[in-house]
Amino acid sequence: MDIKENISLKDYSTMRLGGQARWLAEAYEENDIPVLIEWAKHQNVPFMVIGSGSNIVWRDEGFSGLVIVNKILGKQILNEDEDSATIHIASGEIWDEVVGWTVEKSLSGIEFLSLIPGTTGAAPVQNIGAYGAELSNNLIEVGVYDDETNAFGSIIASQCGFGYRTSRFKKADKGRFIITSITIKLSKKSPIPPFYESLKNYLSEHKISELNSKVIRDAVMNIRSSKLPDPAEIANNGSFFTNPFIDQDQFDSLKQKYPEVKGWPTKDGRIKLAAAWLVEEAGFKGVHDDETGMSTWPTQALVLVNEHAKTTADLLSFKQKIVDKVQELFGLTLEQEPELLP
Ligand code: NAP
Repeated sequence: MDIKENISLKDYSTMRLGGQARWLAEAYEENDIPVLIEWAKHQNVPFMVIGSGSNIVWRDEGFSGLVIVNKILGKQILNEDEDSATIHIASGEIWDEVVGWTVEKSLSGIEFLSLIPGTTGAAPVQNIGAYGAELSNNLIEVGVYDDETNAFGSIIASQCGFGYRTSRFKKADKGRFIITSITIKLSKKSPIPPFYESLKNYLSEHKISELNSKVIRDAVMNIRSSKLPDPAEIANNGSFFTNPFIDQDQFDSLKQKYPEVKGWPTKDGRIKLAAAWLVEEAGFKGVHDDETGMSTWPTQALVLVNEHAKTTADLLSFKQKIVDKVQELFGLTLEQEPELLP
């Protein structure tokens, strides 16, 4: 296997910052995973598996072990009936290409998750979601390599510990499983409202009443690309903060002070706040910070952009300015969404 040495990790994060990997190799098939892990163990160095780096911030110190880049490809329909199709997707497939492929086949379920950057293997880790849909709604099982038992296996959706933008792969079992594939079940029926307001508005403005997965994918792609920078051109990690959840009492007192605050009730009785609103209200919409070379995107303040930052320390210092201001104004601590590695 081709194991490279001293590779810049800037090329493995869409934020384009960070140090070097001591070792780096690409895995093209499932069986490459145990071989590479064994190699790292033999060298007595740590390893980590990454996808396309869209949700990763590398530390300036870099990583002294082996970075395994997931390039395992393959997608196929396992079975289908009148109403649905069950699909198996290898974890190195680019998520948005998978969505496009399912929509071409007139299948519905993941079209709301169009243009979410990253690989398929990263999707269950944070249970990706957008416009009210989330991966767990369609997921049947996740194929894994278990580093504890040194064996391939699968974990059914109910055992994945899915929550809002989270799973056991991100929390309790972080680092244990390497995701090799996912199996999802999609519908042959059209998507049905209610939709998020931004999507509903787009459909009515464009006088679209006949709904199917293609119409929704096109709408989501148009809305997203009008609001969000393309990570292939502009260095960013998408939303940099997750939406905070607060108690009703806390929300009521916030609403008294800020009547325009945005919040949505959740199943457990708590209120989900729009992190973007907090960041904007804290004065960080479309801000260019000369000191760090960072900015926030003018049409989506949740997106932090590396304009000419030199180090991850610059990014973290800019992030801290936002976190501190939001804390001072609202008494809330924003949580970072992209993972800081190692
Ligand atoms: P938007 O539609 O203006 O909504 C702003 C925020 O309010 C979102 O975070 C969304 O929460 C929440 N929200 C809106 N309508 C809601 C409803 N009916 N019920 C519950 N929550 C509601 O925001 P946007 O910034 O254009 O984002 C649209 C979608 O794309 C969102 O789902 C968002 O998560 C997703 N997105 C993802 C990224 C990324 O980098 N991964 C970046 C931007 C946007 P949720 O986030 O929980 O949906």
